[in-house]
Amino acid sequence: MENQVRVRFAPSPTGGLHLGGVRTVLFNYLFAKKHKGTFVLRVEDTDQTRFVEGAEDYIFDCLDWAGLPADESPRKPGDFAPYRQSERKPMYRQYAEQLIAQGNAYYAFDTPEELEKMRESLKTTENPSPQYDHRTRSQMRNSLNLSTEEVKALLDAGVPYVVRIKMPENETVHFTDLIRGDISHETNVVDDKVLLKSDGMPTYHLAVVVDDYLMKITHAFRGEEWLPSAPIHIMLWKYLGWEAEMPKWAHLPLILKPDGNGKLSKRDGERLGFPVFAMEWKDPKSGELIDGFKEKGFLPEAFVNLLVMLGWNPGTEQEIFTLEELSELFSLERVHKGGAKFDYEKAKWYNQQHIQRADNDRLAGLVKPYFEAKGISITDDQKLTEAVAMVKERCHLLTDFTEQASFLFQAPDHLDLDAVKPKWTTEKTAFFTEWSETLQDTANAADLEAAFTECAAKHGIKKGELMMPLRIMLVGGKFGPGVFDIITFIGAAETKKRVASALLLLA
Ligand code: GLU
Repeated sequence: MENQVRVRFAPSPTGGLHLGGVRTVLFNYLFAKKHKGTFVLRVEDTDQTRFVEGAEDYIFDCLDWAGLPADESPRKPGDFAPYRQSERKPMYRQYAEQLIAQGNAYYAFDTPEELEKMRESLKTTENPSPQYDHRTRSQMRNSLNLSTEEVKALLDAGVPYVVRIKMPENETVHFTDLIRGDISHETNVVDDKVLLKSDGMPTYHLAVVVDDYLMKITHAFRGEEWLPSAPIHIMLWKYLGWEAEMPKWAHLPLILKPDGNGKLSKRDGERLGFPVFAMEWKDPKSGELIDGFKEKGFLPEAFVNLLVMLGWNPGTEQEIFTLEELSELFSLERVHKGGAKFDYEKAKWYNQQHIQRADNDRLAGLVKPYFEAKGISITDDQKLTEAVAMVKERCHLLTDFTEQASFLFQAPDHLDLDAVKPKWTTEKTAFFTEWSETLQDTANAADLEAAFTECAAKHGIKKGELMMPLRIMLVGGKFGPGVFDIITFIGAAETKKRVASALLLLA
């Protein structure tokens, strides 16, 4: 099928996957689903100096967790394999050579010292960091300045070289961005980027264009930070004669720091105490371990929901969406240009909303490890499911469940009796002693409450004065679901035990 939508996410596996990266995945994924197209994951690993062990597997893990798998990838090759640029190395050279033959690129033999010298000698106040471009290229050791024989001799002698694009002078490169409209760049301010490195590897600029072409990519969505590279890519599409097949571009808005001042970075997360990566990332070099949204207790569907709202809006009041709904509703017309501020409290609200909608058995399975990590062994999974149902509305994160529900499995370590003690009376002790003696197991919280109310009346104490002490005896603090629901859950024997030990503290 010729006009089939093909989009791609093209990460360089260099570290943890930032939420902006996952949002790029998401927009690609949704666009592909909406148009019944194909979502390609291409690994852009041509920069060997930035190779990070485990980073590629990590990207796959993040996409699996978020529920956004690619249709074609190094793990699921389609018709355009290989999907890892390092394995496509032999494919790129011919295009670099074509560009040289056409006069749109050139060999540059300059050594690092020569480049440094150029930067030093051409430095002026107006041009403090001279680039390799139309102003300086004539003074450098490249095939534009050397004779054909000299170039041949250098190549034959195996002198290291790079291939650089020859950016045209005094031209304006235009393209239409699906989010930003007409974009233009002056070629004079764009330097002659390296296309092929001395090790024969393409740079990102050449590889991204060649691969988008060869993989028949129809739409290229990427972060706004790639906008300055667009003129290089557009020129390459033109020079290689592929302009008619050029993908439609969309540069997605930045995700901003909570105060709106600049792009959200890993350090902002550390500084402000929230995750920035999708999943836990352990830096293999430094050994540094950084938690992700998953480890902080986010559900993947909530993560996806909060991400889509960072840059897109449905045009209605609706805020909570499933991935299926989004696959129907998503459109680039509703992606805005302006950066989207990240708000962690709002992110947690999305999670709380999805927790309410999530199946309790599933939630129980997800939170069980948190209980076990706290030394609370869950012997009956069904009980945990019931506990989850009782407390879920109070939980913003999966990690909140232990705090909200531990007392359903073990007596609290500490009873916050400070507010109770000053108002304590021997009558209250008498009441609790008698009431707990009569207590029996029942599944009916309303019956329990009726018996409690009756006993309070008998002792001449207002029920209202007894409810908070009872809660603290059972829970440890002033929180949790209905006290009589707690009693039906933990049972009469356990309730009696907790009341008795609290009475000892109040005596
Ligand atoms: N490899 C680039 C990255 O790391 C891809 C940018 C693009 O999508 O063109 O994000």
